Amino acid sequence: MKVAQLGSGTPEIAVVGGIHGDEPSGVRAVEQLLDENPSVERPVKLVVANEKALERQVRYVDEDLNRAFPGDPNAKTHEGQLADDLVEELSGCFTFSMHSTQSHAEPFAIVNELHERAKSICPQLPVQAMVETSEFAEGRLFSEIDTIEVECGLQGSETAAQNALRLTRSFLTAVDALPGDTVGRDLPVYRLVDAIPKGEADSYEVFVDNFTEIEPGDPFAAADGDMQVANESFYPVLMSSYGYRDVFGYAAEKLDVLSTSSAAD
Ligand SMILES: [Zn+2]
Repeated sequence: MKVAQLGSGTPEIAVVGGIHGDEPSGVRAVEQLLDENPSVERPVKLVVANEKALERQVRYVDEDLNRAFPGDPNAKTHEGQLADDLVEELSGCFTFSMHSTQSHAEPFAIVNELHERAKSICPQLPVQAMVETSEFAEGRLFSEIDTIEVECGLQGSETAAQNALRLTRSFLTAVDALPGDTVGRDLPVYRLVDAIPKGEADSYEVFVDNFTEIEPGDPFAAADGDMQVANESFYPVLMSSYGYRDVFGYAAEKLDVLSTSSAAD
């Protein structure tokens, strides 16, 4: 883990990249901020999390770090120990954690519950949607640390790296670490209600777009050509053929649309 800081004093704000080693966009955003070294109005902790996995360009070394929280100093796995270190490092910090995905190009935010801070910050970020994980938060960073996660775009893409930097700047502006105003937008909110399991197979396909409602009877995915059809309507979120080992992604319900009266109005 690499830890650096913008400004002086004890940070109550943190920006994290590289929870997953095959998602370089957030790491590039952290490094670029360090290079630019902007003057900040409150100190910001910058963290590159899983350096070992990043070196190997793999999602994780022993286990998925974002399912390993709170971790344990005596864990047998690299990520189990790292999770414990990260919780200690981020303790007391409102944290912004960047991911990228094989599922969806447009940035969106993920929170574990719709707390007031998330509702005020997320509509100020350049994201398409906000997703509440509710009961699917187990082992994720935000089960331990007050965190907004963002999906910055497609893994390894230049656009995701650019998005990551833009998202970070918006976040730091929204929490008054960087000067200026954010742009507010109306933000649809979704809540995960089910994981969509995928059986053992050699090839997988996904036929649907994230955040676009599926009707009963619609085929949404296939495993070795075996079509899976929706029993009831749902909104697909984080759906991809090969992004996760044992699920295609998640079924969500749409809750409402948040709007904000931003400082830019
Ligand atoms: Zn990730």
